[in-house]
Amino acid sequence: MTGTMKATSGPTPMMVQYLALKAKAEDCLLFYRMGDFFELFFDDARAAAATLDIALTSRGEHDGRPIPMCGVPVHAAEGYLARLIKAGHRVAIAEQTESPEDAKARGGSKTLVARDIVRFVTAGTLTEDSLLDSWTSNMLVAVAPVGDEYGLAAADISTGYFELVTVAASALEAELARLSASELVVPDGLAQQFIGAIIRPRADFDSIVGGDLLKQHFALSTLDAIGAVTRAEQAAAGGLIAYLAHVGQGNMPFLKLPVRREVHAHLLIDQATRDSLEISAANKGARAGSLLAEVDRTITGAGARQLASDLSAPLMDQSIIEARLSLVQWFHDAPLTRDAVRSALRQLPDIARALGRVVAGRGSPRDLGQIRDGLDAARHLRERLGAMADRPQLLDHLLPMLDGHGHMVDVLSRALVTSPPTDTTQGGYIAEGYDAALDVLRSAGRDGRQAIAQLEARYRDSTGVAALKIRHNAVLGYFVEVPAKHGDALMAAGSGFAHRQTMAGAVRFNSPELHEEAMRITQASGHALAAEAAHLEELTAIVLTRRDAIAASADALARIDVSAALAERAAEGNWCRPSFVSHPCLEIEGGRHPVVESALAKSGDRFIANDCKLSPDKRLWLVSGPNMGGKSTFLRQNALIVLLAQAGSYVPATSAKLGLVDRLFSRVGASDNLARGRSTFMVEMVETAAILAQATERSFVILDEVGRGTSTYDGLAIAWAVVEGIHETNRCRCLFATHYHELTRLSDSLDALSLHHVRAKEYKGDLVLLHELGDGPADRSYGIAVAKLAGLPPQVVSRAKTVLEKLEKGRAETGGLAAGLGDLPLFSAALDAAEAKVDALREKLTGLDIDALSPRAALDLLYELKRAAGEN
Ligand code: ADP
Repeated sequence: MTGTMKATSGPTPMMVQYLALKAKAEDCLLFYRMGDFFELFFDDARAAAATLDIALTSRGEHDGRPIPMCGVPVHAAEGYLARLIKAGHRVAIAEQTESPEDAKARGGSKTLVARDIVRFVTAGTLTEDSLLDSWTSNMLVAVAPVGDEYGLAAADISTGYFELVTVAASALEAELARLSASELVVPDGLAQQFIGAIIRPRADFDSIVGGDLLKQHFALSTLDAIGAVTRAEQAAAGGLIAYLAHVGQGNMPFLKLPVRREVHAHLLIDQATRDSLEISAANKGARAGSLLAEVDRTITGAGARQLASDLSAPLMDQSIIEARLSLVQWFHDAPLTRDAVRSALRQLPDIARALGRVVAGRGSPRDLGQIRDGLDAARHLRERLGAMADRPQLLDHLLPMLDGHGHMVDVLSRALVTSPPTDTTQGGYIAEGYDAALDVLRSAGRDGRQAIAQLEARYRDSTGVAALKIRHNAVLGYFVEVPAKHGDALMAAGSGFAHRQTMAGAVRFNSPELHEEAMRITQASGHALAAEAAHLEELTAIVLTRRDAIAASADALARIDVSAALAERAAEGNWCRPSFVSHPCLEIEGGRHPVVESALAKSGDRFIANDCKLSPDKRLWLVSGPNMGGKSTFLRQNALIVLLAQAGSYVPATSAKLGLVDRLFSRVGASDNLARGRSTFMVEMVETAAILAQATERSFVILDEVGRGTSTYDGLAIAWAVVEGIHETNRCRCLFATHYHELTRLSDSLDALSLHHVRAKEYKGDLVLLHELGDGPADRSYGIAVAKLAGLPPQVVSRAKTVLEKLEKGRAETGGLAAGLGDLPLFSAALDAAEAKVDALREKLTGLDIDALSPRAALDLLYELKRAAGEN
């Protein structure tokens, strides 16, 4: 221990050092290295002790109060770090930056060892295998507002993935939802808008500085190599790079040359839609039960990450989609090749992550071994696939990326043992035969050990003590040990042995010969370790120079894994290849919901496939029918089919034809969002508002039970107006499920709307849900039959029937809930009237010469305009 905190008048030097480091750590927990422990103090200690469930103790005093403290052993720090990060903390690691000996030499025996923060550990900047899920990417995203746009810079430093994108405010949410960042970094001033984000100085997000940082980091003279990087992207990249430099304390992680994404290059899906379709996480946030889990048959971690990214960002470019599909089809149609490739992938280590660690300066011999083995397997795969006929274009594009590492793999194979360790302190990772000098050192060590064994035999002989042993421990090094009763014999003067230690049952000695041999061994192994370390450095350097090519191989392998996996899934589920047309239609035959279908299959039930046929002249389907009849399943399955198709996957249907969808919206079921402090109805309306504001003629919208969260009249009125709005204004493809029978009247006035229902029938007084779609409206609502099916007591069911009869009689007399709605002017006509009034205002405003107005006249005019706006 190199310092203490005593109760003295002023703070101890150690406390001064601690507080300075803590100030630098800002709101991160400070891990303060003391010998074999990382210690935490004050509030950090309280927080860590609570999260880690470890003892909170105290030490010394500060300002007259005991200092709370807890600590974790350095060798087990990774596990504790993982738990702290998962619990939402960030951690600053302060290491000793000199040895106690150096400190003494510098300033005398009482000198405090210098310490500094060497790294920040944060959720978005992890590279350690043990801290990451192998199948999910770990995104760090920086956001920079410039004008009315936002630049986003996103990186997964565990693999070097780096992308830039510029979005309008209306697409920001969907883009952030796609990236699903584990850490978000924003400039000072945006804290309100991005709750939970890391706030960094505004100066870090300067676009000019950002552009320069990008050029500097990638050694570019202009940014053209990346593409037309916008100012907003430069600002965001600047913020990201500055944050990474801060977190690594100058040690930059791996970043590949950034990919510029166009927002319009992929299907936009906002967070509410992602949640409602359960794309990568199901209801409770777990992966199980999600679309991703249902589709995922990838073998490698990199493949799983690629598939997750594909599904979260389906494409808008038909040629890229077709290229992906052709590769899936190739694997689909050749099951033997598929099997062979998949079993080859099974042997594959995670090259991308190993490379990420090596570049971040945290690589181990094991990482180099993984890169070697992965690239070697890649070459075999290339040879096998390269020999196949009729290769699709995408494969021909990928195969060359698997090659070209021959020389490096060769060097790594010769240099490293078969399974190199993570820990370098014991050496033994450089292979025998790679370096003759190292081999000599090692054999000197071995010879020394042999010499010691011979010495032991000789001493037994000369002393006559058969139980004599030469042993080794970390404190004494080598020593001679005899049982206590033989101790005296060796103690005798002139015996050649020098006493070192007396134990309970044994006595320990040294001897000049043993000392000499021991020295030889220690020296040789010290030199051997140093030689191994030097080789590790060389090998790392070789890998670093080839980092981009290695990363490209890793990406190509991931794409091959995804393609073969999608083929496997398609073959398993009898899925079909979707086709694309230029007009906005959606024609699905025999469509199924993959997750519901598998769930039913587990209990031996069959999923009923259904068709969907939306076209420009019949683009809105109103689906009615009893609860539990399968309406929302039908809605979702069509949304999922669109998503899968545009991600380049086969789809669960017998045939599927569609025009590309630009935005996908789903408002299904009244998902409770009370945790966010909004009522269900409020959430429903916020989401519906977003759809009405953003859906275009190329969008696809599914809406289920809009208006359910409020009273019948309000609900019906809102649902009515929403259907009209979608039909007249958004003009998108839409499936709208409702239990408001009255809405079916809309088919009289809206041309592109057609009526459908999920079929049900009563059989011997019981309701049978057929889960089958029929044309036309549902004949009745079956609500009471469903209630009976659900087990409502017979007397309640029979009472409900009586009430219903009464209500229906009333309806027959008055024309019902929607009486007179048919006479309402159409949505668009009503809008025109409002528009006319706005136009009058606009005319008045355009005719104004503001400069000619006195303040008084301006005020009068404002009153006048306000009056005009309020006129009815
Ligand atoms: P609704 O939205 O009409 O209330 P759901 O879509 O929630 O009904 O479906 C209710 C249940 O019916 C589902 O959980 C599923 O078990 C079953 N189901 C739905 N669609 C089908 C189908 N096409 N084939 C078989 N079972 C289905």
